[in-house]
Amino acid sequence: MAWSAARPLEIRRVGTAAVQIDWSDGHRSEYSNRDLRHACPCAECRERRPPKESADAVPVHPTEIQLVGRYALQFRWSDGHDTGIYTFQSLRAACPCAECRAREEGKGTG
Ligand SMILES: [Zn+2]
Ligand SMILES: [Zn+2]
Repeated sequence: MAWSAARPLEIRRVGTAAVQIDWSDGHRSEYSNRDLRHACPCAECRERRPPKESADAVPVHPTEIQLVGRYALQFRWSDGHDTGIYTFQSLRAACPCAECRAREEGKGTG
């Protein structure tokens, strides 16, 4: 199965620090909440995205994670924000593990 067609089988919160996703192709991703929140794809966040390392960035964690149709996840964050829809493909593409980073870097070369 192509990684881009993988779907989350299991989503679990790792304390308040991270979210782990087990994918249908057997891969496991672990995202820090900070990175996930920063990557919020909603229009509001895209327009005024604070610098990632900003000192006053409040640590947030998802209080609720819901499936949106068959293609995406919606996170409700502890800061009350819940308009970001993260598609499976964008989540998987953002997997921070070494294997996936290598794939991203090799993009375009086949
Ligand atoms: Zn947002
Ligand atoms: Zn990965």
